[in-house]
Amino acid sequence: MNKTTKKGNNATDSINPFEEMIARLNMAASIVKLDKDVYEIIKSPEKQIHVSLPIKMDNGSTVVFEGHRVIHSTALGPSKGGIRYSMDVNTDEVKALAAWMAFKCAIADIPYGGAKGGIKCDPRSMSKGELERLTRTYTAAMADIFGVDKDIPAPDMNTGQQEMAWIVDEFSKISGAFTPGIVTGKPLHLGGSLGRVEATGRGVVVSALQAMEKLGMDPTKCTAAVQGFGNVGSITAMHFVKHGVKVVGISDHTAAFYNEKGIDIQKAIAYRDKNKGVLKGFKGGTLIKNEEVLTLKVDVIAPCAMEDQITARTNAHKIKAKLIVEGANGPTTANADKILNDKGVTIVPDILANGGGVTVSYFEWVQNRTGYYYSEDEINKRADNWMKKAFENVWQTSVKYKVSMRIAAYIFALEKIEKGIKSRGSY
Ligand code: NAD
Repeated sequence: MNKTTKKGNNATDSINPFEEMIARLNMAASIVKLDKDVYEIIKSPEKQIHVSLPIKMDNGSTVVFEGHRVIHSTALGPSKGGIRYSMDVNTDEVKALAAWMAFKCAIADIPYGGAKGGIKCDPRSMSKGELERLTRTYTAAMADIFGVDKDIPAPDMNTGQQEMAWIVDEFSKISGAFTPGIVTGKPLHLGGSLGRVEATGRGVVVSALQAMEKLGMDPTKCTAAVQGFGNVGSITAMHFVKHGVKVVGISDHTAAFYNEKGIDIQKAIAYRDKNKGVLKGFKGGTLIKNEEVLTLKVDVIAPCAMEDQITARTNAHKIKAKLIVEGANGPTTANADKILNDKGVTIVPDILANGGGVTVSYFEWVQNRTGYYYSEDEINKRADNWMKKAFENVWQTSVKYKVSMRIAAYIFALEKIEKGIKSRGSY
Protein backbone atom coordinates (compact mmCIF):
# COMPACT_ATOMS: atom_id res chain seq x y z
CA MET A 1 0.00 0.00 0.00
CA ASN A 2 1.46 3.33 -0.96
CA LYS A 3 1.14 6.38 1.20
CA THR A 4 -2.56 7.16 1.10
CA THR A 5 -4.73 9.36 3.22
CA LYS A 6 -8.49 9.52 3.20
CA LYS A 7 -10.36 12.65 4.19
CA GLY A 8 -13.81 13.19 5.63
CA ASN A 9 -15.57 13.92 8.89
CA ASN A 10 -13.02 16.73 9.48
CA ALA A 11 -10.37 14.13 10.18
CA THR A 12 -7.77 12.32 8.18
CA ASP A 13 -6.35 8.87 8.75
CA SER A 14 -3.17 7.56 7.31
CA ILE A 15 -4.09 4.13 6.08
CA ASN A 16 -0.48 3.15 5.77
CA PRO A 17 0.31 0.91 8.79
CA PHE A 18 4.00 1.83 8.76
CA GLU A 19 3.10 5.52 9.07
CA GLU A 20 0.68 4.61 11.86
CA MET A 21 3.50 2.83 13.68
CA ILE A 22 5.89 5.78 13.19
CA ALA A 23 3.25 8.27 14.44
CA ARG A 24 2.99 6.40 17.77
CA LEU A 25 6.73 5.77 17.94
CA ASN A 26 7.37 9.51 17.55
CA MET A 27 4.93 10.37 20.34
CA ALA A 28 6.46 7.85 22.73
CA ALA A 29 10.03 8.80 21.78
CA SER A 30 9.42 12.49 22.45
CA ILE A 31 7.79 11.80 25.85
CA VAL A 32 10.73 9.70 27.10
CA LYS A 33 13.28 11.89 25.26
CA LEU A 34 14.66 8.81 23.54
CA ASP A 35 18.35 9.06 22.60
CA LYS A 36 18.52 10.41 19.03
CA ASP A 37 20.85 7.67 17.77
CA VAL A 38 18.68 4.96 19.30
CA TYR A 39 15.61 6.54 17.68
CA GLU A 40 17.33 6.43 14.27
CA ILE A 41 18.11 2.73 14.78
CA ILE A 42 14.65 1.78 16.08
CA LYS A 43 12.62 3.56 13.44
CA SER A 44 13.94 1.52 10.48
CA PRO A 45 13.92 -2.23 9.87
CA GLU A 46 17.29 -3.99 10.16
CA LYS A 47 16.73 -6.10 7.07
CA GLN A 48 14.16 -6.44 4.29
CA ILE A 49 13.96 -9.36 1.89
CA HIS A 50 11.63 -9.32 -1.13
CA VAL A 51 11.43 -12.36 -3.37
CA SER A 52 9.58 -13.51 -6.49
CA LEU A 53 8.18 -17.01 -6.15
CA PRO A 54 7.33 -18.84 -9.41
CA ILE A 55 4.70 -21.52 -8.74
CA LYS A 56 3.35 -24.15 -11.12
CA MET A 57 -0.44 -23.93 -10.77
CA ASP A 58 -2.74 -26.94 -11.08
CA ASN A 59 -3.80 -25.87 -14.58
CA GLY A 60 -0.19 -26.01 -15.81
CA SER A 61 0.37 -22.23 -15.88
CA THR A 62 3.11 -20.51 -13.86
CA VAL A 63 2.25 -17.63 -11.55
CA VAL A 64 4.95 -15.52 -9.89
CA PHE A 65 3.99 -14.50 -6.33
CA GLU A 66 5.50 -11.67 -4.28
CA GLY A 67 7.04 -12.77 -0.95
CA HIS A 68 8.41 -10.60 1.86
CA ARG A 69 10.26 -10.97 5.14
CA VAL A 70 11.16 -7.94 7.21
CA ILE A 71 13.38 -8.16 10.27
CA HIS A 72 12.77 -5.06 12.33
CA SER A 73 15.10 -5.64 15.26
CA THR A 74 17.34 -8.28 16.77
CA ALA A 75 18.51 -6.05 19.63
CA LEU A 76 16.99 -8.34 22.29
CA GLY A 77 17.31 -11.72 20.55
CA PRO A 78 16.50 -13.65 17.37
CA SER A 79 13.67 -12.11 15.37
CA LYS A 80 10.19 -13.59 15.69
CA GLY A 81 7.02 -13.04 13.73
CA GLY A 82 4.27 -14.66 11.70
CA ILE A 83 3.73 -15.16 7.99
CA ARG A 84 0.57 -13.79 6.42
CA TYR A 85 -1.10 -14.86 3.14
CA SER A 86 -3.33 -12.13 1.75
CA MET A 87 -3.88 -9.99 -1.35
CA ASP A 88 -3.35 -6.93 0.90
CA VAL A 89 0.25 -7.91 1.76
CA ASN A 90 2.67 -5.14 0.83
CA THR A 91 6.04 -3.83 1.96
CA ASP A 92 4.76 -1.16 4.34
CA GLU A 93 2.28 -3.51 5.98
CA VAL A 94 4.99 -6.11 6.62
CA LYS A 95 7.38 -3.40 7.88
CA ALA A 96 4.79 -2.17 10.39
CA LEU A 97 3.92 -5.68 11.54
CA ALA A 98 7.63 -6.47 12.02
CA ALA A 99 8.13 -3.38 14.20
CA TRP A 100 5.04 -4.24 16.26
CA MET A 101 6.47 -7.73 16.82
CA ALA A 102 9.69 -6.23 18.20
CA PHE A 103 7.70 -4.02 20.59
CA LYS A 104 5.33 -6.87 21.51
CA CYS A 105 8.17 -9.22 22.46
CA ALA A 106 9.79 -6.49 24.58
CA ILE A 107 6.48 -5.86 26.40
CA ALA A 108 5.85 -9.58 26.92
CA ASP A 109 9.39 -9.88 28.33
CA ILE A 110 10.41 -12.50 25.78
CA PRO A 111 14.06 -12.62 24.62
CA TYR A 112 13.24 -12.02 20.96
CA GLY A 113 13.43 -9.25 18.43
CA GLY A 114 10.69 -8.77 15.84
CA ALA A 115 10.01 -9.77 12.23
CA LYS A 116 7.11 -10.45 9.90
CA GLY A 117 6.59 -12.21 6.60
CA GLY A 118 3.94 -12.22 3.96
CA ILE A 119 3.00 -13.51 0.54
CA LYS A 120 0.64 -11.57 -1.68
CA CYS A 121 -1.86 -14.25 -2.69
CA ASP A 122 -5.51 -15.22 -2.33
CA PRO A 123 -5.24 -18.51 -0.41
CA ARG A 124 -8.99 -19.15 -0.60
CA SER A 125 -8.77 -19.46 -4.40
CA MET A 126 -5.77 -21.82 -4.29
CA SER A 127 -5.70 -25.62 -3.98
CA LYS A 128 -3.87 -27.36 -1.16
CA GLY A 129 -1.17 -28.45 -3.63
CA GLU A 130 -0.64 -24.88 -4.86
CA LEU A 131 -0.41 -23.61 -1.27
CA GLU A 132 2.10 -26.33 -0.40
CA ARG A 133 4.32 -25.47 -3.40
CA LEU A 134 4.08 -21.76 -2.55
CA THR A 135 4.99 -22.34 1.11
CA ARG A 136 7.93 -24.60 0.23
CA THR A 137 9.25 -22.17 -2.41
CA TYR A 138 9.02 -19.28 0.08
CA THR A 139 10.87 -21.38 2.70
CA ALA A 140 13.63 -22.22 0.22
CA ALA A 141 13.93 -18.54 -0.74
CA MET A 142 14.25 -17.63 2.98
CA ALA A 143 16.48 -20.57 3.98
CA ASP A 144 19.42 -18.26 4.73
CA ILE A 145 17.23 -15.88 6.72
CA PHE A 146 15.29 -18.32 8.91
CA GLY A 147 17.13 -20.04 11.76
CA VAL A 148 16.40 -21.32 15.28
CA ASP A 149 18.74 -18.65 16.67
CA LYS A 150 18.19 -16.17 13.82
CA ASP A 151 14.62 -15.70 12.69
CA ILE A 152 11.65 -17.84 13.72
CA PRO A 153 8.36 -17.58 11.79
CA ALA A 154 4.86 -18.47 13.02
CA PRO A 155 1.28 -18.42 11.68
CA ASP A 156 -0.65 -15.23 11.00
CA MET A 157 -3.67 -14.39 8.84
CA ASN A 158 -4.58 -17.33 6.59
CA THR A 159 -1.71 -19.53 7.72
CA GLY A 160 -1.80 -22.19 10.41
CA GLN A 161 -0.41 -25.54 11.49
CA GLN A 162 -0.33 -27.02 7.97
CA GLU A 163 1.83 -24.21 6.55
CA MET A 164 4.14 -24.46 9.59
CA ALA A 165 4.48 -28.24 9.04
CA TRP A 166 5.49 -27.63 5.39
CA ILE A 167 8.08 -25.07 6.54
CA VAL A 168 9.55 -27.52 9.09
CA ASP A 169 9.77 -30.20 6.40
CA GLU A 170 11.29 -27.97 3.70
CA PHE A 171 13.75 -26.32 6.08
CA SER A 172 14.75 -29.73 7.54
CA LYS A 173 15.41 -31.05 4.01
CA ILE A 174 17.54 -28.02 3.12
CA SER A 175 19.50 -28.03 6.39
CA GLY A 176 19.84 -31.82 6.54
CA ALA A 177 18.57 -32.04 10.13
CA PHE A 178 15.09 -32.22 11.63
CA THR A 179 14.55 -28.67 12.85
CA PRO A 180 11.17 -28.23 14.56
CA GLY A 181 12.34 -25.07 16.38
CA ILE A 182 12.51 -23.21 13.06
CA VAL A 183 8.84 -22.22 13.41
CA THR A 184 6.22 -22.09 16.14
CA GLY A 185 2.51 -22.84 15.79
CA LYS A 186 3.32 -26.34 14.50
CA PRO A 187 1.05 -29.38 14.85
CA LEU A 188 1.55 -31.12 18.22
CA HIS A 189 3.03 -34.26 16.62
CA LEU A 190 5.84 -32.15 15.09
CA GLY A 191 6.79 -30.43 18.35
CA GLY A 192 3.97 -27.93 18.66
CA SER A 193 2.94 -26.72 22.09
CA LEU A 194 -0.25 -27.47 23.91
CA GLY A 195 -2.21 -24.26 24.31
CA ARG A 196 -0.71 -22.51 21.25
CA VAL A 197 -3.87 -22.50 19.11
CA GLU A 198 -5.85 -20.78 21.86
CA ALA A 199 -3.03 -18.62 23.18
CA THR A 200 -3.70 -15.31 21.41
CA GLY A 201 -7.46 -15.16 22.05
CA ARG A 202 -6.98 -16.41 25.60
CA GLY A 203 -4.45 -13.62 26.22
CA VAL A 204 -6.78 -11.03 24.68
CA VAL A 205 -9.38 -11.98 27.28
CA VAL A 206 -6.84 -12.06 30.14
CA SER A 207 -5.88 -8.48 29.26
CA ALA A 208 -9.56 -7.48 28.85
CA LEU A 209 -10.30 -8.83 32.35
CA GLN A 210 -7.33 -6.95 33.81
CA ALA A 211 -8.60 -3.75 32.22
CA MET A 212 -12.14 -4.38 33.48
CA GLU A 213 -10.81 -4.79 36.99
CA LYS A 214 -8.93 -1.47 36.77
CA LEU A 215 -12.02 0.25 35.36
CA GLY A 216 -14.41 -1.28 37.91
CA MET A 217 -16.38 -3.21 35.28
CA ASP A 218 -17.96 -6.52 36.34
CA PRO A 219 -17.41 -9.01 33.44
CA THR A 220 -20.63 -10.86 34.26
CA LYS A 221 -22.57 -7.63 33.68
CA CYS A 222 -20.74 -6.72 30.46
CA THR A 223 -21.59 -7.26 26.80
CA ALA A 224 -19.05 -7.56 23.99
CA ALA A 225 -18.78 -7.57 20.21
CA VAL A 226 -15.96 -9.30 18.35
CA GLN A 227 -14.87 -8.46 14.81
CA GLY A 228 -13.19 -11.33 12.94
CA PHE A 229 -13.94 -14.98 13.58
CA GLY A 230 -10.68 -16.69 12.72
CA ASN A 231 -8.13 -17.98 15.21
CA VAL A 232 -8.01 -14.84 17.36
CA GLY A 233 -11.63 -13.67 17.11
CA SER A 234 -13.36 -16.99 17.72
CA ILE A 235 -11.16 -17.91 20.70
CA THR A 236 -11.53 -14.41 22.14
CA ALA A 237 -15.32 -14.73 21.89
CA MET A 238 -15.18 -18.20 23.46
CA HIS A 239 -13.09 -17.01 26.42
CA PHE A 240 -15.29 -13.94 26.95
CA VAL A 241 -18.23 -16.30 27.36
CA LYS A 242 -16.21 -18.55 29.71
CA HIS A 243 -15.69 -15.53 31.97
CA GLY A 244 -19.35 -14.50 31.94
CA VAL A 245 -19.16 -11.72 29.33
CA LYS A 246 -22.17 -11.85 27.02
CA VAL A 247 -21.01 -11.75 23.38
CA VAL A 248 -23.86 -10.14 21.43
CA GLY A 249 -22.08 -9.37 18.14
CA ILE A 250 -19.69 -11.30 15.90
CA SER A 251 -18.50 -10.91 12.31
CA ASP A 252 -16.15 -12.18 9.67
CA HIS A 253 -15.49 -10.96 6.12
CA THR A 254 -18.67 -12.67 4.87
CA ALA A 255 -21.31 -11.70 7.47
CA ALA A 256 -22.07 -10.06 10.85
CA PHE A 257 -24.62 -11.07 13.48
CA TYR A 258 -26.32 -9.56 16.53
CA ASN A 259 -28.20 -11.39 19.27
CA GLU A 260 -29.16 -9.45 22.39
CA LYS A 261 -29.48 -12.68 24.37
CA GLY A 262 -25.90 -13.62 23.56
CA ILE A 263 -24.56 -15.59 20.62
CA ASP A 264 -23.86 -19.29 21.16
CA ILE A 265 -20.14 -19.11 20.30
CA GLN A 266 -19.58 -22.89 20.28
CA LYS A 267 -22.37 -23.19 17.71
CA ALA A 268 -20.87 -20.38 15.64
CA ILE A 269 -17.45 -22.10 15.69
CA ALA A 270 -19.01 -25.45 14.71
CA TYR A 271 -20.95 -23.72 11.91
CA ARG A 272 -17.80 -21.96 10.61
CA ASP A 273 -15.80 -25.19 10.67
CA LYS A 274 -18.45 -26.98 8.59
CA ASN A 275 -18.88 -24.08 6.15
CA LYS A 276 -15.49 -23.46 4.54
CA GLY A 277 -14.33 -21.40 7.51
CA VAL A 278 -16.95 -18.65 7.18
CA LEU A 279 -20.01 -17.44 9.14
CA LYS A 280 -22.22 -16.65 6.13
CA GLY A 281 -25.57 -18.41 6.61
CA PHE A 282 -25.20 -18.78 10.41
CA LYS A 283 -28.64 -18.73 12.07
CA GLY A 284 -27.69 -17.80 15.65
CA GLY A 285 -28.42 -14.06 15.35
CA THR A 286 -29.89 -11.27 13.25
CA LEU A 287 -27.87 -10.37 10.19
CA ILE A 288 -26.43 -6.84 10.55
CA LYS A 289 -24.20 -4.75 8.32
CA ASN A 290 -20.56 -5.74 8.64
CA GLU A 291 -19.44 -2.29 9.80
CA GLU A 292 -22.10 -2.22 12.56
CA VAL A 293 -20.35 -4.80 14.73
CA LEU A 294 -17.82 -2.27 16.09
CA THR A 295 -20.42 0.41 16.84
CA LEU A 296 -22.93 -1.79 18.70
CA LYS A 297 -24.13 -0.61 22.12
CA VAL A 298 -21.83 -2.87 24.12
CA ASP A 299 -19.30 -2.44 26.93
CA VAL A 300 -16.33 -3.99 25.15
CA ILE A 301 -15.30 -4.39 21.53
CA ALA A 302 -12.52 -6.66 20.36
CA PRO A 303 -11.36 -5.97 16.80
CA CYS A 304 -9.71 -9.28 15.82
CA ALA A 305 -9.62 -9.12 12.02
CA MET A 306 -7.07 -6.78 10.46
CA GLU A 307 -5.57 -3.27 10.36
CA ASP A 308 -7.37 0.06 10.05
CA GLN A 309 -10.85 -1.02 11.13
CA ILE A 310 -11.39 1.90 13.54
CA THR A 311 -10.68 5.18 11.82
CA ALA A 312 -11.39 8.87 12.42
CA ARG A 313 -13.07 9.02 9.03
CA THR A 314 -15.53 6.18 9.45
CA ASN A 315 -16.46 5.05 12.93
CA ALA A 316 -14.31 6.27 15.87
CA HIS A 317 -16.90 8.90 16.83
CA LYS A 318 -19.69 6.27 16.69
CA ILE A 319 -18.06 3.81 19.07
CA LYS A 320 -20.14 3.23 22.22
CA ALA A 321 -17.94 0.73 24.07
CA LYS A 322 -15.97 1.89 27.14
CA LEU A 323 -13.19 -0.60 26.45
CA ILE A 324 -11.46 -1.70 23.24
CA VAL A 325 -9.18 -4.72 23.37
CA GLU A 326 -7.14 -5.12 20.20
CA GLY A 327 -6.79 -8.75 19.14
CA ALA A 328 -5.75 -7.74 15.62
CA ASN A 329 -2.55 -5.89 14.83
CA GLY A 330 -3.07 -2.22 14.03
CA PRO A 331 -6.90 -2.09 14.00
CA THR A 332 -7.05 1.55 15.19
CA THR A 333 -5.51 4.50 13.35
CA ALA A 334 -3.57 7.22 15.21
CA ASN A 335 -6.29 9.80 14.51
CA ALA A 336 -8.99 7.45 15.74
CA ASP A 337 -6.94 7.06 18.95
CA LYS A 338 -7.25 10.81 19.55
CA ILE A 339 -11.05 10.75 19.19
CA LEU A 340 -11.35 7.70 21.45
CA ASN A 341 -8.98 9.09 24.08
CA ASP A 342 -11.02 12.31 24.17
CA LYS A 343 -14.19 10.26 24.64
CA GLY A 344 -12.56 8.46 27.60
CA VAL A 345 -12.48 5.06 25.91
CA THR A 346 -9.73 2.77 27.26
CA ILE A 347 -7.80 0.90 24.56
CA VAL A 348 -5.69 -2.12 25.45
CA PRO A 349 -3.32 -1.88 22.49
CA ASP A 350 -2.46 -4.70 20.11
CA ILE A 351 1.20 -4.92 21.13
CA LEU A 352 0.03 -5.78 24.65
CA ALA A 353 -3.37 -7.45 24.15
CA ASN A 354 -2.42 -10.02 21.51
CA GLY A 355 0.98 -10.91 23.04
CA GLY A 356 -0.35 -14.24 24.37
CA GLY A 357 0.35 -15.89 21.02
CA VAL A 358 4.02 -15.01 20.88
CA THR A 359 4.37 -15.85 24.58
CA VAL A 360 3.26 -19.44 24.00
CA SER A 361 5.30 -19.50 20.78
CA TYR A 362 8.29 -18.74 22.98
CA PHE A 363 7.32 -21.64 25.27
CA GLU A 364 7.06 -23.85 22.17
CA TRP A 365 10.56 -22.84 21.04
CA VAL A 366 11.95 -23.47 24.55
CA GLN A 367 10.32 -26.92 24.58
CA ASN A 368 11.79 -27.73 21.14
CA ARG A 369 15.26 -26.73 22.32
CA THR A 370 15.15 -28.62 25.60
CA GLY A 371 13.14 -31.61 24.37
CA TYR A 372 10.92 -31.43 27.47
CA TYR A 373 7.22 -30.76 26.97
CA TYR A 374 4.85 -29.05 29.43
CA SER A 375 1.21 -29.90 30.16
CA GLU A 376 -1.52 -27.64 28.80
CA ASP A 377 -2.34 -26.52 32.31
CA GLU A 378 1.27 -25.46 32.94
CA ILE A 379 1.40 -23.55 29.63
CA ASN A 380 -1.90 -21.75 30.25
CA LYS A 381 -0.96 -20.78 33.81
CA ARG A 382 2.44 -19.45 32.76
CA ALA A 383 0.98 -17.58 29.77
CA ASP A 384 -1.80 -16.00 31.86
CA ASN A 385 0.73 -14.83 34.46
CA TRP A 386 3.01 -13.37 31.77
CA MET A 387 0.06 -11.52 30.25
CA LYS A 388 -0.96 -10.14 33.65
CA LYS A 389 2.60 -8.98 34.34
CA ALA A 390 2.83 -7.31 30.92
CA PHE A 391 -0.53 -5.60 31.47
CA GLU A 392 0.54 -4.29 34.87
CA ASN A 393 3.87 -2.98 33.48
CA VAL A 394 2.07 -1.06 30.73
CA TRP A 395 -0.66 0.17 33.09
CA GLN A 396 1.96 1.49 35.56
CA THR A 397 3.86 3.15 32.70
CA SER A 398 0.65 4.86 31.60
CA VAL A 399 0.11 6.12 35.17
CA LYS A 400 3.75 7.27 35.47
CA TYR A 401 3.77 9.25 32.22
CA LYS A 402 0.03 10.15 32.25
CA VAL A 403 -0.43 8.74 28.74
CA SER A 404 -2.78 6.28 27.04
CA MET A 405 -2.03 2.58 27.33
CA ARG A 406 -0.95 2.59 23.67
CA ILE A 407 1.73 5.22 24.16
CA ALA A 408 2.68 3.58 27.47
CA ALA A 409 3.18 0.26 25.65
CA TYR A 410 5.45 1.94 23.11
CA ILE A 411 7.38 3.69 25.91
CA PHE A 412 7.85 0.44 27.83
CA ALA A 413 9.10 -1.33 24.67
CA LEU A 414 11.36 1.53 23.58
CA GLU A 415 13.06 1.80 26.98
CA LYS A 416 13.79 -1.92 26.92
CA ILE A 417 15.02 -2.08 23.32
CA GLU A 418 17.13 1.03 23.97
CA LYS A 419 18.96 -0.86 26.75
CA GLY A 420 19.65 -3.73 24.33
CA ILE A 421 20.97 -1.42 21.62
CA LYS A 422 23.13 0.63 24.00
CA SER A 423 24.65 -2.31 25.86
CA ARG A 424 25.49 -4.14 22.63
CA GLY A 425 26.91 -0.99 21.05
CA SER A 426 27.57 -0.30 17.36
CA TYR A 427 30.55 0.50 15.08
P1 NAD B 1 -7.41 -15.65 10.61
O1 NAD B 1 -7.05 -15.71 9.18
O2 NAD B 1 -7.51 -16.90 11.40
O3 NAD B 1 -8.81 -14.86 10.79
C1 NAD B 1 -9.05 -13.58 10.28
C2 NAD B 1 -10.53 -13.33 10.44
O4 NAD B 1 -10.83 -11.98 10.11
C3 NAD B 1 -11.41 -14.19 9.54
O5 NAD B 1 -12.56 -14.62 10.26
C4 NAD B 1 -11.84 -13.23 8.44
O6 NAD B 1 -13.05 -13.59 7.83
C5 NAD B 1 -11.98 -11.97 9.25
N1 NAD B 1 -12.00 -10.75 8.48
C6 NAD B 1 -11.17 -10.36 7.48
N2 NAD B 1 -11.57 -9.16 7.01
C7 NAD B 1 -12.65 -8.79 7.76
C8 NAD B 1 -13.51 -7.67 7.76
N3 NAD B 1 -13.32 -6.68 6.91
N4 NAD B 1 -14.52 -7.63 8.67
C9 NAD B 1 -14.73 -8.63 9.53
N5 NAD B 1 -13.94 -9.73 9.58
C10 NAD B 1 -12.93 -9.80 8.69
O7 NAD B 1 -6.36 -14.65 11.27
P2 NAD B 1 -5.95 -14.54 12.81
O8 NAD B 1 -4.75 -15.39 13.01
O9 NAD B 1 -7.15 -14.71 13.65
O10 NAD B 1 -5.44 -13.04 12.84
C11 NAD B 1 -6.34 -11.94 13.01
C12 NAD B 1 -5.56 -10.73 13.44
O11 NAD B 1 -4.89 -11.02 14.67
C13 NAD B 1 -4.48 -10.24 12.48
O12 NAD B 1 -4.36 -8.85 12.59
C14 NAD B 1 -3.22 -10.91 13.04
O13 NAD B 1 -2.04 -10.22 12.65
C15 NAD B 1 -3.49 -10.78 14.52
N6 NAD B 1 -2.73 -11.71 15.38
C16 NAD B 1 -2.82 -13.05 15.20
C17 NAD B 1 -2.12 -13.89 16.07
C18 NAD B 1 -2.25 -15.39 15.98
O14 NAD B 1 -1.69 -16.08 16.87
N7 NAD B 1 -2.96 -15.95 15.01
C19 NAD B 1 -1.31 -13.36 17.06
C20 NAD B 1 -1.24 -11.98 17.22
C21 NAD B 1 -1.98 -11.16 16.36
